[in-house]
Amino acid sequence: MTFVELNKLTKRYGAMTAVNGVDLAIDKGTLVCLLGPSGCGKTTTLRLVAGFIKPSDGRISVGGRVVSSASASEPPEARNMSMIFQSYALWPHMTVFDNVAYGLKLRRLGRADIETRTNRILQATKLANLASRYPSELSGGQQQRVSLARALVVEPETLLLDEPLSNLDANLREEMRFEIRRLHDEFRYTTVYVTHDQTEAMTAANLIVVMKQGNIEQAGTPEDIYERPRSEFVAQFIGGSNIFKGRRVGDNAVDCGEGLVLTCGSGDFPDQGEVAVSIRHHDMHLASERPSGGGSNWASGKVIRQVYLGSHRDYLISLSGGETVRAVAPVNVAIPESQQVWLHCPPDRCRALAR
Ligand code: ADP
Ligand code: MG
Repeated sequence: MTFVELNKLTKRYGAMTAVNGVDLAIDKGTLVCLLGPSGCGKTTTLRLVAGFIKPSDGRISVGGRVVSSASASEPPEARNMSMIFQSYALWPHMTVFDNVAYGLKLRRLGRADIETRTNRILQATKLANLASRYPSELSGGQQQRVSLARALVVEPETLLLDEPLSNLDANLREEMRFEIRRLHDEFRYTTVYVTHDQTEAMTAANLIVVMKQGNIEQAGTPEDIYERPRSEFVAQFIGGSNIFKGRRVGDNAVDCGEGLVLTCGSGDFPDQGEVAVSIRHHDMHLASERPSGGGSNWASGKVIRQVYLGSHRDYLISLSGGETVRAVAPVNVAIPESQQVWLHCPPDRCRALAR
């Protein structure tokens, strides 16, 4: 059942369109990630949903009721939403307990009720033993938990998070990704989570919405977005892909020039015109010897750079056709720089994209 719905949602700042006619239906109780590079309109979309800014066009409905349109916009406090910002914005002079309880005091709940609810959330966010500390006595991850607890304690119907983990170090970020998912599963509010980090999105989300320049480029489950990208942008942004450009020459083959013909196992083949073929960096197989038999889906080139990364090697290769591609190979495939290499692009890993 759709709970939050965006219809042709648009926000312009002068000549600049930050959000450009976005349509999106978010089911009750799901966790949706808005994912995209910096400047693509994620924060603006979230602030529109929260009610901090008004749309230039289009509307937002929550539970079937229009809360934002160009002509009228309900204030944030009328929306039963909590928003968590990148900076945790905790009160420095209040303890963890008081920071979390603050929203309930504002709502004039009784003392006993405030105590019960606050303690329950402190338990759920693993902060019970830190309740009497001040923010300056907490690590970044603990502060982030407090900001989560504070948002959850008021039992919002909708939770909005804007890059909530970007101030944490890599280990904590990984832990908190799971934590946010766990809390979501426990409380089942409808969540909109903004991030530019694809691993974060893939860990947390039921639905990933990939944005580019104020538009939705593709929306789907994490598996959908990763396995079946519909554009070069999505193929490259999520998971890293090489893109070859060519023309269709058979039912499912694409001639990319310089003798490279790629048979593609999946994708979208236009009847005529250019086709792009995407293949993941880690799906390219490297060989130091020319393949016997040859055939399609082989390219040759020269190693420009090779980096040892412990679990794999990362290659940059200049193809004889002039393009540069990346390939990720097992550590035991060690081909020195400036040496010739052959690259196999397995057909079932090649995906055609209409251009
Ligand atoms: P993201 O969160 O995806 O990085 P934003 O939503 O913050 O992107 O911004 C989208 C675009 O809108 C950017 O080009 C940004 O510069 C512009 N923008 C955002 N807020 C304003 C504003 N208040 N005035 C003018 N331009 C803005
Ligand atoms: Mg932002």
